[in-house]
Amino acid sequence: MDEFIDFVRGGPLGPIKKWGTRWSLWPVHLVTACCGAELAHAFACGYDGERIGALNYGIARQTNLIIVEGAITRKMARVLRITWEQMPDPKFVIVMGACGLQGGLFWNGYHMVKPSDVVPVDFFIPGCPPTPEALLRGIRQLQDKIITGEAKTSATFPEIPLEPGRKPRVLPKSPKKVSKAPAVLVNVPKQVEWDFGEKLVEELRAKIEAKSVTITGKNRIAVKVERDYIPKAALKLRDMGFDHVKNVNVVDVPNEDKFIVEYHFSSYSVKELMPVIVNIFADVPRDEPRVKSLAKMFPSADYLEREMHDFFGVVFEGNPWTGRKFLLAPDTPEYPLRKDFKLEEEVYVR
Ligand code: SF4
Repeated sequence: MDEFIDFVRGGPLGPIKKWGTRWSLWPVHLVTACCGAELAHAFACGYDGERIGALNYGIARQTNLIIVEGAITRKMARVLRITWEQMPDPKFVIVMGACGLQGGLFWNGYHMVKPSDVVPVDFFIPGCPPTPEALLRGIRQLQDKIITGEAKTSATFPEIPLEPGRKPRVLPKSPKKVSKAPAVLVNVPKQVEWDFGEKLVEELRAKIEAKSVTITGKNRIAVKVERDYIPKAALKLRDMGFDHVKNVNVVDVPNEDKFIVEYHFSSYSVKELMPVIVNIFADVPRDEPRVKSLAKMFPSADYLEREMHDFFGVVFEGNPWTGRKFLLAPDTPEYPLRKDFKLEEEVYVR
Protein backbone atom coordinates (compact mmCIF):
# COMPACT_ATOMS: atom_id res chain seq x y z
CA MET A 1 0.00 0.00 0.00
CA ASP A 2 2.79 2.40 0.98
CA GLU A 3 4.61 1.65 -2.30
CA PHE A 4 1.49 2.41 -4.23
CA ILE A 5 1.02 5.68 -2.38
CA ASP A 6 4.66 6.57 -3.01
CA PHE A 7 4.20 5.79 -6.70
CA VAL A 8 1.10 7.98 -6.97
CA ARG A 9 2.71 10.74 -4.99
CA GLY A 10 6.20 10.72 -6.39
CA GLY A 11 5.97 8.83 -9.69
CA PRO A 12 4.78 10.05 -13.05
CA LEU A 13 1.30 10.55 -11.64
CA GLY A 14 2.61 12.84 -8.86
CA PRO A 15 2.15 16.16 -10.67
CA ILE A 16 -1.33 15.16 -11.82
CA LYS A 17 -2.30 14.21 -8.29
CA LYS A 18 -1.00 17.51 -6.94
CA TRP A 19 -2.79 19.41 -9.64
CA GLY A 20 -6.02 17.58 -8.82
CA THR A 21 -5.64 18.20 -5.10
CA ARG A 22 -4.85 21.83 -5.68
CA TRP A 23 -8.10 22.45 -7.50
CA SER A 24 -10.27 20.23 -5.34
CA LEU A 25 -10.15 21.74 -1.88
CA TRP A 26 -13.34 21.03 0.02
CA PRO A 27 -13.37 23.00 3.26
CA VAL A 28 -15.47 21.40 5.96
CA HIS A 29 -17.99 23.65 7.70
CA LEU A 30 -16.59 24.26 11.17
CA VAL A 31 -17.96 27.65 12.09
CA THR A 32 -17.02 28.46 15.66
CA ALA A 33 -17.12 32.23 15.73
CA CYS A 34 -17.76 35.49 13.93
CA CYS A 35 -15.02 34.86 11.34
CA GLY A 36 -17.56 32.42 9.88
CA ALA A 37 -19.46 35.41 8.50
CA GLU A 38 -16.41 36.35 6.45
CA LEU A 39 -16.07 32.78 5.23
CA ALA A 40 -19.68 32.92 4.05
CA HIS A 41 -18.88 36.24 2.41
CA ALA A 42 -15.87 34.77 0.61
CA PHE A 43 -17.94 31.94 -0.86
CA ALA A 44 -21.05 33.98 -1.67
CA CYS A 45 -21.71 35.40 -5.13
CA GLY A 46 -19.57 38.56 -4.65
CA TYR A 47 -16.24 36.78 -4.26
CA ASP A 48 -17.34 33.34 -5.40
CA GLY A 49 -14.61 31.23 -3.75
CA GLU A 50 -15.69 28.26 -5.85
CA ARG A 51 -14.04 29.76 -8.90
CA ILE A 52 -10.62 29.03 -7.37
CA GLY A 53 -11.48 25.39 -6.85
CA ALA A 54 -12.68 25.34 -3.26
CA LEU A 55 -16.23 24.65 -2.15
CA ASN A 56 -17.53 24.24 1.38
CA TYR A 57 -18.91 20.86 2.18
CA GLY A 58 -20.93 19.54 5.06
CA ILE A 59 -19.48 16.12 5.86
CA ALA A 60 -16.01 15.71 7.38
CA ARG A 61 -15.30 12.38 5.69
CA GLN A 62 -15.56 13.91 2.23
CA THR A 63 -13.51 17.03 2.84
CA ASN A 64 -9.80 17.75 2.79
CA LEU A 65 -9.50 21.23 4.31
CA ILE A 66 -10.53 22.71 7.63
CA ILE A 67 -10.81 26.48 7.78
CA VAL A 68 -10.83 27.22 11.50
CA GLU A 69 -12.93 30.33 11.73
CA GLY A 70 -11.68 32.22 14.73
CA ALA A 71 -11.95 31.25 18.36
CA ILE A 72 -11.49 27.67 19.52
CA THR A 73 -12.58 26.97 23.06
CA ARG A 74 -11.79 23.95 25.18
CA LYS A 75 -15.10 22.42 24.22
CA MET A 76 -14.59 23.01 20.51
CA ALA A 77 -10.96 21.79 20.59
CA ARG A 78 -12.23 18.24 20.91
CA VAL A 79 -14.66 18.74 18.03
CA LEU A 80 -11.88 20.19 15.89
CA ARG A 81 -9.64 17.22 16.57
CA ILE A 82 -12.37 14.66 15.92
CA THR A 83 -13.35 16.40 12.67
CA TRP A 84 -9.72 16.46 11.53
CA GLU A 85 -9.26 12.79 12.36
CA GLN A 86 -12.29 11.86 10.29
CA MET A 87 -11.01 13.56 7.17
CA PRO A 88 -9.14 11.50 4.55
CA ASP A 89 -5.57 12.34 3.61
CA PRO A 90 -4.19 14.53 2.18
CA LYS A 91 -5.76 17.12 4.44
CA PHE A 92 -4.94 20.69 5.30
CA VAL A 93 -5.76 23.25 7.96
CA ILE A 94 -6.09 27.00 7.55
CA VAL A 95 -6.67 29.13 10.65
CA MET A 96 -8.30 32.49 10.05
CA GLY A 97 -8.63 35.31 12.55
CA ALA A 98 -6.73 36.75 15.46
CA CYS A 99 -8.56 34.47 17.89
CA GLY A 100 -7.12 31.35 16.27
CA LEU A 101 -3.62 32.80 16.19
CA GLN A 102 -3.11 34.18 19.67
CA GLY A 103 -6.52 34.31 21.30
CA GLY A 104 -7.52 37.62 19.71
CA LEU A 105 -9.80 39.66 21.89
CA PHE A 106 -10.17 36.66 24.20
CA TRP A 107 -6.39 36.59 24.64
CA ASN A 108 -6.57 35.87 28.39
CA GLY A 109 -9.79 33.85 28.32
CA TYR A 110 -9.67 30.82 30.58
CA HIS A 111 -11.33 28.75 27.89
CA MET A 112 -9.19 29.53 24.83
CA VAL A 113 -7.13 26.94 22.98
CA LYS A 114 -4.75 27.51 20.11
CA PRO A 115 -5.85 25.41 17.11
CA SER A 116 -2.16 24.69 16.45
CA ASP A 117 -2.08 22.83 19.78
CA VAL A 118 -4.75 20.47 18.48
CA VAL A 119 -4.15 19.96 14.74
CA PRO A 120 -1.24 20.69 12.38
CA VAL A 121 -1.87 24.09 10.81
CA ASP A 122 -0.72 24.84 7.25
CA PHE A 123 -1.66 28.46 7.05
CA PHE A 124 -2.59 31.34 9.34
CA ILE A 125 -4.56 34.34 8.11
CA PRO A 126 -4.37 37.29 10.50
CA GLY A 127 -7.10 39.89 10.99
CA CYS A 128 -10.20 40.45 13.05
CA PRO A 129 -11.95 39.36 11.02
CA PRO A 130 -9.77 38.73 7.98
CA THR A 131 -11.36 40.03 4.81
CA PRO A 132 -12.76 37.65 2.18
CA GLU A 133 -9.85 38.69 -0.03
CA ALA A 134 -7.42 37.59 2.68
CA LEU A 135 -9.15 34.24 3.04
CA LEU A 136 -9.12 33.61 -0.70
CA ARG A 137 -5.46 34.62 -0.78
CA GLY A 138 -4.81 32.10 2.01
CA ILE A 139 -6.45 29.37 -0.06
CA ARG A 140 -4.37 30.37 -3.08
CA GLN A 141 -1.22 30.20 -0.94
CA LEU A 142 -2.19 26.74 0.23
CA GLN A 143 -2.70 25.69 -3.37
CA ASP A 144 0.80 26.90 -4.19
CA LYS A 145 2.10 24.98 -1.21
CA ILE A 146 0.45 21.81 -2.50
CA ILE A 147 2.10 22.21 -5.90
CA THR A 148 5.56 22.83 -4.46
CA GLY A 149 5.10 19.76 -2.29
CA GLU A 150 5.54 21.58 0.97
CA ALA A 151 2.08 20.74 2.25
CA LYS A 152 1.58 17.58 4.25
CA THR A 153 0.34 14.96 1.85
CA SER A 154 1.38 11.86 3.77
CA ALA A 155 -1.06 9.00 4.18
CA THR A 156 0.50 8.43 7.59
CA PHE A 157 -1.09 10.48 10.34
CA PRO A 158 1.35 12.96 11.81
CA GLU A 159 1.88 12.25 15.48
CA ILE A 160 0.59 15.00 17.73
CA PRO A 161 1.00 13.94 21.33
CA LEU A 162 -1.97 15.28 23.22
CA GLU A 163 -1.68 13.42 26.50
CA PRO A 164 1.21 13.59 29.02
CA GLY A 165 4.40 14.45 27.22
CA ARG A 166 2.85 16.97 24.91
CA LYS A 167 4.32 20.41 24.70
CA PRO A 168 3.09 22.41 27.65
CA ARG A 169 0.71 25.13 26.63
CA VAL A 170 2.23 28.54 26.98
CA LEU A 171 -0.20 30.83 28.73
CA PRO A 172 -0.82 34.20 27.13
CA LYS A 173 1.35 37.01 28.38
CA SER A 174 -0.26 39.40 30.78
CA PRO A 175 -1.03 42.92 29.60
CA LYS A 176 1.76 45.46 29.86
CA LYS A 177 0.14 47.24 32.79
CA VAL A 178 -2.04 45.58 35.37
CA SER A 179 -3.76 47.75 37.91
CA LYS A 180 -4.43 46.13 41.27
CA ALA A 181 -7.47 48.31 41.72
CA PRO A 182 -8.84 49.00 38.26
CA ALA A 183 -11.52 51.68 38.15
CA VAL A 184 -14.58 50.23 36.45
CA LEU A 185 -16.86 53.03 35.28
CA VAL A 186 -19.90 52.47 33.13
CA ASN A 187 -21.03 56.11 33.20
CA VAL A 188 -18.10 58.00 31.70
CA PRO A 189 -19.58 61.20 30.18
CA LYS A 190 -18.97 61.96 26.52
CA GLN A 191 -19.53 65.24 24.69
CA VAL A 192 -21.78 64.56 21.72
CA GLU A 193 -24.17 66.62 19.65
CA TRP A 194 -27.46 65.07 20.54
CA ASP A 195 -30.34 67.46 21.23
CA PHE A 196 -32.88 64.71 21.66
CA GLY A 197 -30.55 63.09 24.20
CA GLU A 198 -30.39 66.30 26.26
CA LYS A 199 -34.19 66.38 26.44
CA LEU A 200 -34.29 62.71 27.33
CA VAL A 201 -31.79 63.26 30.14
CA GLU A 202 -33.99 66.06 31.55
CA GLU A 203 -37.00 63.77 31.42
CA LEU A 204 -35.13 60.91 33.08
CA ARG A 205 -33.88 63.22 35.85
CA ALA A 206 -37.44 64.40 36.49
CA LYS A 207 -39.00 60.95 36.53
CA ILE A 208 -36.36 58.68 38.05
CA GLU A 209 -34.73 58.96 41.47
CA ALA A 210 -31.28 58.56 40.01
CA LYS A 211 -27.84 58.99 41.57
CA SER A 212 -26.59 60.16 38.19
CA VAL A 213 -27.83 60.42 34.60
CA THR A 214 -25.01 60.57 32.06
CA ILE A 215 -24.77 60.68 28.29
CA THR A 216 -22.05 58.16 27.51
CA GLY A 217 -22.23 58.50 23.72
CA LYS A 218 -24.67 59.23 20.91
CA ASN A 219 -27.87 57.34 21.73
CA ARG A 220 -26.41 56.00 24.98
CA ILE A 221 -27.47 57.11 28.48
CA ALA A 222 -26.37 55.55 31.77
CA VAL A 223 -28.58 55.98 34.82
CA LYS A 224 -27.20 54.98 38.20
CA VAL A 225 -29.79 53.99 40.83
CA GLU A 226 -30.00 52.13 44.13
CA ARG A 227 -30.33 48.42 43.51
CA ASP A 228 -33.79 48.19 45.11
CA TYR A 229 -34.97 50.99 42.89
CA ILE A 230 -34.26 49.13 39.61
CA PRO A 231 -37.88 47.82 39.19
CA LYS A 232 -39.34 51.30 39.77
CA ALA A 233 -36.92 52.84 37.28
CA ALA A 234 -37.89 50.11 34.80
CA LEU A 235 -41.59 50.97 35.24
CA LYS A 236 -40.89 54.63 34.53
CA LEU A 237 -38.95 53.70 31.40
CA ARG A 238 -41.81 51.49 30.24
CA ASP A 239 -44.18 54.43 30.62
CA MET A 240 -41.82 56.53 28.49
CA GLY A 241 -41.98 53.99 25.65
CA PHE A 242 -39.00 51.71 26.34
CA ASP A 243 -40.64 48.37 25.68
CA HIS A 244 -37.91 45.76 26.01
CA VAL A 245 -34.70 44.82 27.80
CA LYS A 246 -31.95 44.33 25.26
CA ASN A 247 -29.27 43.08 27.57
CA VAL A 248 -28.57 42.21 31.20
CA ASN A 249 -24.97 42.45 32.21
CA VAL A 250 -22.93 41.89 35.36
CA VAL A 251 -19.46 43.35 35.91
CA ASP A 252 -17.39 41.82 38.71
CA VAL A 253 -15.34 44.43 40.59
CA PRO A 254 -13.66 42.43 43.38
CA ASN A 255 -11.33 45.22 44.46
CA GLU A 256 -14.39 47.26 45.43
CA ASP A 257 -16.21 44.20 46.75
CA LYS A 258 -19.14 44.71 44.42
CA PHE A 259 -20.88 43.70 41.24
CA ILE A 260 -22.31 46.22 38.83
CA VAL A 261 -25.64 44.97 37.47
CA GLU A 262 -26.86 46.63 34.29
CA TYR A 263 -30.14 46.49 32.40
CA HIS A 264 -30.14 47.95 28.87
CA PHE A 265 -33.53 49.22 27.71
CA SER A 266 -34.64 50.18 24.22
CA SER A 267 -37.81 50.48 22.16
CA TYR A 268 -39.34 48.74 19.18
CA SER A 269 -42.53 50.79 19.23
CA VAL A 270 -41.47 54.46 19.55
CA LYS A 271 -39.54 55.57 16.48
CA GLU A 272 -37.33 58.21 18.16
CA LEU A 273 -36.37 55.80 20.94
CA MET A 274 -35.44 52.91 18.67
CA PRO A 275 -31.71 53.75 18.39
CA VAL A 276 -31.49 54.77 22.06
CA ILE A 277 -30.19 52.48 24.79
CA VAL A 278 -30.68 53.47 28.40
CA ASN A 279 -28.52 51.59 30.85
CA ILE A 280 -30.05 51.38 34.33
CA PHE A 281 -27.32 50.13 36.64
CA ALA A 282 -26.66 49.67 40.33
CA ASP A 283 -23.86 48.56 42.60
CA VAL A 284 -24.58 45.25 44.35
CA PRO A 285 -22.44 44.00 47.26
CA ARG A 286 -20.46 40.91 46.42
CA ASP A 287 -21.40 39.16 49.67
CA GLU A 288 -25.12 39.69 49.06
CA PRO A 289 -25.56 39.55 45.28
CA ARG A 290 -29.33 40.03 44.98
CA VAL A 291 -31.48 42.21 42.76
CA LYS A 292 -35.18 42.09 41.97
CA SER A 293 -35.96 40.37 38.69
CA LEU A 294 -37.55 42.30 35.83
CA ALA A 295 -38.59 39.10 34.05
CA LYS A 296 -42.31 39.56 34.71
CA MET A 297 -42.30 43.19 33.56
CA PHE A 298 -39.94 42.63 30.61
CA PRO A 299 -40.03 39.00 29.36
CA SER A 300 -36.84 39.51 27.34
CA ALA A 301 -34.95 39.94 30.63
CA ASP A 302 -35.81 36.41 31.74
CA TYR A 303 -33.24 34.42 29.77
CA LEU A 304 -30.56 37.09 30.24
CA GLU A 305 -31.01 37.04 34.01
CA ARG A 306 -30.67 33.25 34.05
CA GLU A 307 -27.46 33.56 32.07
CA MET A 308 -26.00 36.12 34.49
CA HIS A 309 -27.07 33.96 37.43
CA ASP A 310 -25.21 30.94 36.08
CA PHE A 311 -22.09 32.90 35.21
CA PHE A 312 -21.81 35.24 38.20
CA GLY A 313 -24.11 33.85 40.92
CA VAL A 314 -26.18 37.01 41.12
CA VAL A 315 -29.66 36.07 42.36
CA PHE A 316 -32.53 37.72 40.48
CA GLU A 317 -35.31 37.52 43.03
CA GLY A 318 -38.58 36.57 41.39
CA ASN A 319 -37.09 34.98 38.29
CA PRO A 320 -38.70 31.53 38.19
CA TRP A 321 -35.49 29.85 37.06
CA THR A 322 -33.05 31.34 39.52
CA GLY A 323 -31.55 28.83 41.91
CA ARG A 324 -30.88 26.09 39.40
CA LYS A 325 -28.45 25.93 36.55
CA PHE A 326 -30.04 26.62 33.25
CA LEU A 327 -27.23 27.12 30.76
CA LEU A 328 -24.28 25.27 32.20
CA ALA A 329 -23.99 21.52 32.62
CA PRO A 330 -24.81 20.35 36.16
CA ASP A 331 -21.22 19.38 36.97
CA THR A 332 -19.64 22.68 35.84
CA PRO A 333 -17.95 24.62 38.61
CA GLU A 334 -19.97 27.49 39.94
CA TYR A 335 -19.82 31.03 38.59
CA PRO A 336 -17.06 30.75 35.98
CA LEU A 337 -17.08 34.43 35.01
CA ARG A 338 -16.27 35.75 38.45
CA LYS A 339 -12.82 37.28 38.52
CA ASP A 340 -11.69 34.95 41.32
CA PHE A 341 -12.73 31.80 39.43
CA LYS A 342 -9.85 29.34 39.62
CA LEU A 343 -8.82 27.67 36.42
CA GLU A 344 -8.84 23.90 36.35
CA GLU A 345 -6.02 21.81 35.03
CA GLU A 346 -5.81 21.69 31.24
CA VAL A 347 -7.86 18.65 30.30
CA TYR A 348 -9.60 19.88 27.22
CA VAL A 349 -8.69 17.18 24.73
CA ARG A 350 -8.98 13.48 25.39
S1 SF4 B 1 -10.77 37.06 14.94
FE1 SF4 B 1 -12.33 38.64 15.30
S2 SF4 B 1 -13.93 38.11 13.82
FE2 SF4 B 1 -12.64 36.31 14.02
S3 SF4 B 1 -13.58 35.04 15.60
FE3 SF4 B 1 -12.09 36.36 16.61
S4 SF4 B 1 -13.28 38.14 17.26
FE4 SF4 B 1 -14.50 37.09 15.73
